[in-house]
Amino acid sequence: MAIWNLGSINADHVYRLQHLPQPGETLAADSYAVGLGGKGGNQSIAAAQAGTTPRHLGAVGSGDRWIVERLQALGIDCSAIQMLPDEATGHALILLDTEAENSIIIHPGANRAIGIRAMLSALSTIGAGDTLLIQNETNGQVEAARAARQAGARVIYSAAPFQIDAVRQILPHVSVLAMNEGEARELFEAIPGDLPVEGLLITRGAAGAEYRDLITGRSHHHPAFKVQPVDTTGAGDTFAGYFAACTDRGDDIDTALRLASAAAALQVTRQGAGEAIPGMQDTLAFLD
Ligand code: ATP
Repeated sequence: MAIWNLGSINADHVYRLQHLPQPGETLAADSYAVGLGGKGGNQSIAAAQAGTTPRHLGAVGSGDRWIVERLQALGIDCSAIQMLPDEATGHALILLDTEAENSIIIHPGANRAIGIRAMLSALSTIGAGDTLLIQNETNGQVEAARAARQAGARVIYSAAPFQIDAVRQILPHVSVLAMNEGEARELFEAIPGDLPVEGLLITRGAAGAEYRDLITGRSHHHPAFKVQPVDTTGAGDTFAGYFAACTDRGDDIDTALRLASAAAALQVTRQGAGEAIPGMQDTLAFLD
């Protein structure tokens, strides 16, 4: 089956510093690099590294073809990415200290200006058994999720960055709701009753991950693998993309959780976000 992803594409400008700056402080960075990021781009890269060819729905500024070419080179179908003449490509300023703590500023740019009609037209061939990934960094999520569910596809929604109003609107069209621990806490406070979804995927950083099947009532847990993290940016996206790809190819939930945990553990031992996501071969070798 096929994976689709309506998601943000960012250029990540990464600065390594001795410590995160205080208000009013000017700091010289120890190093600087530009990498691929954005929750959407990261999830597409993860799904591609796990062995699928995700079709990415999104937008970049028309001057930034390089970013599309880099995504293509990683095995993503970019034919439906819109090149917008009047928008800046989404980008993030990522500050990392020597303890791998981070501070991040995001400018959404083109990610929030995706043409809905063109996006829905690209999505019109999604069908039963396919998967649509969505997150909270673009416009058009409700329209895409509704269309995908009407076509019989599964919708995996990462409620990040957490916005309760967005969650409430999208929830009726979601199959699997994916969150980290903090997002889950906010969600359960805001919506204490039953959720109208089939499954909940909750990640807890170094404390592992859990999938709750709300139809059977069964919970599946997987501990995190013990590693020395270098940069945890994109761990949740690595997990979500691997989980989507593995369940899409028919792996059972426990296998998908194990592979996603291994891929995310490896990813946090590398610098960067999208380009730090390991391929399936490296992930399987890590598990040997
Ligand atoms: P981010 O916002 O940094 O992308 P997140 O908060 O969405 O991440 P986390 O819950 O921190 O997501 O991490 C997702 C998964 O990645 C975890 O469930 C775990 O499997 C793996 N992981 C994260 N941090 C570590 C770590 N320090 N050691 C091993 N595995 C980790």
